[in-house]
Amino acid sequence: MKTRVSNFGPGPATLPLEVLEQTAEDIINFQGSGIGLMEISHRSPEFQGIADEAESLLRELLQIPDNYRVLFLQGGASSQFFMIPMNLLADNGKATYLNTGTWAKKAIKEAQLFGDIDVAYSSEEQSFNRVPSDGEYSIKDDSEYLYFVSNNTIYGTQFATFPKTDTTLICDMSSDILSRPIDVSKFGLIFAGAQKNLGPAGVTIVIVRDDLVERGPETIPTMLRYKTHADKGSMFNTPPCVAISVVCRVLQWVKNMGGLEVIQKRNEEKAAVIYRIIDSGDYYRGHAERDSRSQMNISFNLPTPELEKKFIEEAAAIGLKGLKGHRSIGGCRASIYNAFELSGAEQLASFMEQFAANNPAS
Ligand code: PMP
Repeated sequence: MKTRVSNFGPGPATLPLEVLEQTAEDIINFQGSGIGLMEISHRSPEFQGIADEAESLLRELLQIPDNYRVLFLQGGASSQFFMIPMNLLADNGKATYLNTGTWAKKAIKEAQLFGDIDVAYSSEEQSFNRVPSDGEYSIKDDSEYLYFVSNNTIYGTQFATFPKTDTTLICDMSSDILSRPIDVSKFGLIFAGAQKNLGPAGVTIVIVRDDLVERGPETIPTMLRYKTHADKGSMFNTPPCVAISVVCRVLQWVKNMGGLEVIQKRNEEKAAVIYRIIDSGDYYRGHAERDSRSQMNISFNLPTPELEKKFIEEAAAIGLKGLKGHRSIGGCRASIYNAFELSGAEQLASFMEQFAANNPAS
């Protein structure tokens, strides 16, 4: 096998090696059952044990209060864009959205199919280079909820603190869940596609307060009601067993690392190594405004698109892969989720220094 490289991909993203090794064993023979993970019944005690452990570890790590349900759903994070308004905006209800990037915009478009949506803030004209602070928008009294994206994967912006409001908070945490401690009790619903910090693509975690679970009207399709999945312990139909098992292994890894405070420090350290280079001169330009910077995705530009192309190619040649920016904004992006190692960030930082020295702007 070729050696593994530093994978800066934005998702699916790098996973802890020990999780991959354990999963390789699980695929062949799951928990000593003699049956592989892709073959075993989701109703078997072995699989039920892993699903239960995944939920209890997530509850422990995020300190999820008892009046919240944890659901393991399919359809990607994108399905939450319509499930949320379908369940919570019956009778053309009102909701407020913050437009901080592509994923927020897509959620707004879906929500508009079901409710009266107020886009109270948008950084679109500034190419989504920042997230707002509380004073920059207002929430109408009759809003059912405030929806925002905690980390904007494409632009490399992140809410350092969450909106303070009495309105029900709904958050897409797909690209920063478990990267830092959070107070779940401040939210009505949190969701995240697994493929960045939690595991492989194929499962979406939804953490939802009991009263909101009950809100979904019976007139919407059964599979799209939160209550359906909450009542059946996320086993209303066949769940994505492989993805859930890997999520469980990742949660075990997070716990073994020392939990979310330790993970947060590690993430800050990794990000600082790269931002230091960006801030050290004019050669690299960070996309995000400083106080909106993400600890998970660092989007930046070089002096010209030609230099960016060369940078990405030369980096890949020395095992620094996945640095191409999202097609919507171009440039470069280093995604450094939980499982990404500090040594990879250090390697990128020294490559950036060398590249700038060897390839002057003009
Ligand atoms: N929200 C955010 C913040 C994302 O980064 C992504 C995907 N990169 C999505 C939603 C969409 O996720 P999915 O592909 O699982 O639908």
